[in-house]
Amino acid sequence: MTTEVIPLGTASAIPTRARHLASTAVLCGGSMVLFDCGEGTQFRLMDAGLKRSRIDAICITHLHGDHYFGLMGILSSMTLLKREAPLTLVGPAGIEAILEALPGVRAEERTFPIDYVVLWDDLTRAVVYETDTYTVEARPVDHRVFTVGYRFQEKTKPGHLDVERARALGVTDYRHYRALKAGETVTLDDGRRVLPEAVVGPPRPGPAFAYVTDTRPCEAAATLARGAALLYHEATFGDDMPQRAAETGHSTARQAAGIALRAQVQKLILGHFSARYKDVSGLVEEARSVFKNTEAAEELKRYKIFPAGP
Ligand SMILES: [Zn+2]
Ligand SMILES: [Zn+2]
Repeated sequence: MTTEVIPLGTASAIPTRARHLASTAVLCGGSMVLFDCGEGTQFRLMDAGLKRSRIDAICITHLHGDHYFGLMGILSSMTLLKREAPLTLVGPAGIEAILEALPGVRAEERTFPIDYVVLWDDLTRAVVYETDTYTVEARPVDHRVFTVGYRFQEKTKPGHLDVERARALGVTDYRHYRALKAGETVTLDDGRRVLPEAVVGPPRPGPAFAYVTDTRPCEAAATLARGAALLYHEATFGDDMPQRAAETGHSTARQAAGIALRAQVQKLILGHFSARYKDVSGLVEEARSVFKNTEAAEELKRYKIFPAGP
């Protein structure tokens, strides 16, 4: 199982011919989480070959239209397709009232329940979604309205069992392999004991992905991204408009790179570009002068994430 991050839209505010509105899908095993759901997201899911039915949770950063107007379409389609599985919807307070007031989307017309995880503006940190294999954490960032960033974290996996070594020590029973992998000491038929640390490698921490958009550079962004395999950070503006970035609650590409550097991520992908930049290669260059492993987030590309190597 390899987690994949698939940017579906990298525009800010207004879509362009080349860039779509904010949404990024994360696929982990059979589970999918969407971060933001701008208008047109369901079309982008189809373009990416991703099934709506696989979505288990949708996490919205804030209630600016370019980040959530796609919810109406997706939720409506889910009912038309007779979805029954519950959907978790994470977002700032207010989202529930909006959706539950909407004909075609509200609970009494849906074929499936929505589990709302409502975030209030006094939030400091919360785990907002969790499965057997990963968690999603939210922290408030610094925009014009209450906005959160997210960290998707694969859980730590047990170390690899060295089967050759176990055999050499006389372990042949499958149940013993399982017990050792679970960290238990086993006793063989001849009374000898085999300790797990003799045959099982160290636990393997899972990789993380941080989704940080619509914010000035802030401490929470660096905390969310700490040691992540991949950081998606907004770069609405370039070095030509730092003033405008600060006034509107956004970051420049260079500032995004500063966060990546502080958080010591493996890789930075930039997004949420202002429509004024037809070509964003200048922004990528500005960011690279601070943090080398930077690229512009490429829509529909599948970024695989791995834990940092030894
Ligand atoms: Zn935005
Ligand atoms: Zn915004």
